[in-house]
Amino acid sequence: MLLDVNTLLVVTVANIVTLALVSPAVMGLRLGAAARAARWSIVVHAVGWACMIASNFWPETWMDRWLSTMAVAGFAVTHWLLYVALAHWLGPRRFRPAVIALSILTPVGYFAVFGSYALRVGWANLLLAVQLLLVTWACFRPTTTLHGPWRMVLAGGMTGIAVLTAGRGVLGAFTDVYPTFLTPHPWNIAAMFLTSLLPVLMNFAVLGGWHEEAETALHKLAITDTLTGLLNRRGWHEVALPLIAHASRLGQPVSLLMIDIDFFKSINDRYGHDAGDRALQAMGALLRENRRAHDVAARIGGEEFCLLLPSCTAEAASDIDQRLRQRLPAIGADLGFPLDFSAGLAVRQPQETLERLMTRADTALYAAKDGGRGCLVSAESPSPQPEKPL
Ligand code: GH3
Ligand code: MG
Ligand code: MG
Repeated sequence: MLLDVNTLLVVTVANIVTLALVSPAVMGLRLGAAARAARWSIVVHAVGWACMIASNFWPETWMDRWLSTMAVAGFAVTHWLLYVALAHWLGPRRFRPAVIALSILTPVGYFAVFGSYALRVGWANLLLAVQLLLVTWACFRPTTTLHGPWRMVLAGGMTGIAVLTAGRGVLGAFTDVYPTFLTPHPWNIAAMFLTSLLPVLMNFAVLGGWHEEAETALHKLAITDTLTGLLNRRGWHEVALPLIAHASRLGQPVSLLMIDIDFFKSINDRYGHDAGDRALQAMGALLRENRRAHDVAARIGGEEFCLLLPSCTAEAASDIDQRLRQRLPAIGADLGFPLDFSAGLAVRQPQETLERLMTRADTALYAAKDGGRGCLVSAESPSPQPEKPL
């Protein structure tokens, strides 16, 4: 056999320690909670292997007992930290108490039964394998928007290590073909070979999770208006277009309210730009708080807002406009100056594009401005007339 376990072990540990050392340079120092847990899992993994190597210098002594236990604890905590990273990326995961319990029970039991080789090897390897499978399970069924194929690479790597670890446990506990960690048994050589390969693969997959997280955060930033927290113009198109296509397929009505704050320039001029910004934030909060789950609210320009209302007729949209207006006196009292808006309403015609729908709502909005402001004009009325609030 050309491959010997000792060399493979050294290469494995060198790989993992190098990954731990270079990770700050690759991932940077300021990390989110998930990437931080993933980073620590690499570091703890490296420490675990360093302890395992060191333990081989004092076979079957109290030093061996402590160092091997620390190595086992390191592996168990590595899995737990990976689980934490996955829970941050993919949403709450199943089997949390079991994964935590295993990271404590595995090293404690190992330390307790260290005197019996078969028992300790069986105990540690089988429990670590179970823990790995539970963490593998955590790669599936994300409840957040993260769902990249890196999860499958991670799950594949962990399943591989779980099988090898379980095999070691069975050989150590029930046979005499695996009397020491360095035994050149083919299963052990294969296990060691893959143990040097899989952590590298898994860390690469972790970078995939970190990348998807960053990409998702950047995308959210790109489609969000920082002042109001609503969608910006780019986000509006991104969300409204598929929603309209969906409603069109189902033959459901879609209404659009286009809203523009009245005399906003005077608010800026009289009360200052900060007051203008607060007015925009109040308008954003008003739309956010009064929309239903599937409504889309966006700030599409300086003081112009859009509210897309799926499954909503002209009458229902007009009621929503009235409801928003009823909140204006309270908002004005908070701001310290009155706030009002004009609105244009259009209901999507069959085959109508978002652009065309917006143009019709905009024309109605301008009719509302011409009609004296502080009111709604519907593009659907035979001759659009301002509807004065009650
Ligand atoms: P109208 O009733 O006809 O809508 O008049 P108006 O003054 O609201 O409209 P106009 O388009 O004349 O002015 C819009 C103003 O909105 C001009 C611009 O300085 C201001 N504005 C645009 N973006 C922002 C912003 O982010 N913050 C603040 N404070 N003002 C903004
Ligand atoms: Mg305006
Ligand atoms: Mg305007």
